[in-house]
Amino acid sequence: MQQLDEESPELEPVLAALEGDDCTHCDSGTLTRDVYKGDDAVVCEACGVPGARSL
Ligand SMILES: [Zn+2]
Repeated sequence: MQQLDEESPELEPVLAALEGDDCTHCDSGTLTRDVYKGDDAVVCEACGVPGARSL
């Protein structure tokens, strides 16, 4: 049986690494896991700027 749901196998480590980082667009925000334009991403909880899209 295969249980692997590989939606974004290469992106997951990137998201895990970015989660919790300080936002680069504002002073008080922290990056948190969210969905941006239908994709898994990390998004600043304060200003909403995605942290992983530019990689
Ligand atoms: Zn921010």
